[in-house]
Amino acid sequence: MLLVAGLTLKNLKPRVWDVSSPYYLSNLRAVMVSYADFHRLPDYRHRAMAQGLHVSLGIPKDIKVYLDNGAFYFLGRGTSPSQKDYEEFIAQAKPDWWPIPQDFIPTPKMTLEQQRRCFTRTMEMNLAYQYDGYVPVIHISRFLTEYAAAVQTQQDLSLKSMIALGGIVPNLLRAPKALPYQEILDSLKYVRQTFAHKDIHVFGVGGTATLHIAVLLGMNSVDSSGWRNRAARGIVQLPGSGDRTVAKLGSWRGREPDPKEWAMLAACQCPACGQFGVEGLKTTGIQGFSNRATHNLWTLLDEVQQIDAHLADGSYQTWYKHHLDNSIYLPLIQQSMHQMAWYR
Ligand SMILES: [Zn+2]
Repeated sequence: MLLVAGLTLKNLKPRVWDVSSPYYLSNLRAVMVSYADFHRLPDYRHRAMAQGLHVSLGIPKDIKVYLDNGAFYFLGRGTSPSQKDYEEFIAQAKPDWWPIPQDFIPTPKMTLEQQRRCFTRTMEMNLAYQYDGYVPVIHISRFLTEYAAAVQTQQDLSLKSMIALGGIVPNLLRAPKALPYQEILDSLKYVRQTFAHKDIHVFGVGGTATLHIAVLLGMNSVDSSGWRNRAARGIVQLPGSGDRTVAKLGSWRGREPDPKEWAMLAACQCPACGQFGVEGLKTTGIQGFSNRATHNLWTLLDEVQQIDAHLADGSYQTWYKHHLDNSIYLPLIQQSMHQMAWYR
């Protein structure tokens, strides 16, 4: 499974894709930028269109640049980019992957009627862009089966080799009336089975445990900005564990590492810990942020590699039980393993 690292144009540090950066991560294969950023920063938009995304951001060609349409950002702001501007941007900036110009994310607190409206408007957009490389988007919501039926009955849409799945973030944030985890898992299974031959991208998967579920259920790619958001709040991710707060920033309070976890961090092989140690993780300012962000992304990339390796040599079933600590996701991971037998 491909892990796509979410970036923000406001701060491109740490330059994890840049061989000359102290934070270079050699196993990074793809990044994602949001069209919302280009919409807000016209200078960046013009430069990306003049030079192409890769050159304008200094990202080597062998790293894929995914574009997000910014639907999550535009949700609730009452503004949206024009479709023509988006089309123009795609044609000239040339991302490696891009969804339809807009999708309308249903949030758990919406009424059924409002969710239906999101479904209708998103499907209108999917149909309007069924030609070319626009990736159709569907949402995990009360209308998932309607989405599947609508995509399958339209010939051009059904023939597309890719599909993107959104709407998970508002549910994972445990908003009031969020779908239960079990229902999210069932939805993912349903999408994998329904679109057995499509390349499925899942928007917004951030924790190490959720990566296990995405791999086991046969998702092809996921993106995450969690490595940066956590770093900005003084948080580091640990292999197989939850988040730990290592730098006390502002009013944010969280669980600190225990002595065993500090020892794990001291032994971490990532470029940030290798050069600056745990003191680097605790540092404030951009330096500390870069250390924690690099550490977090390295941890996620390494987790995916380990999952793949343990699945490949048949040791996953014994490994994950002691690798993942008491995650609330453990029962879901168990179920996902049964599903895996179906598609592998
Ligand atoms: Zn590290």
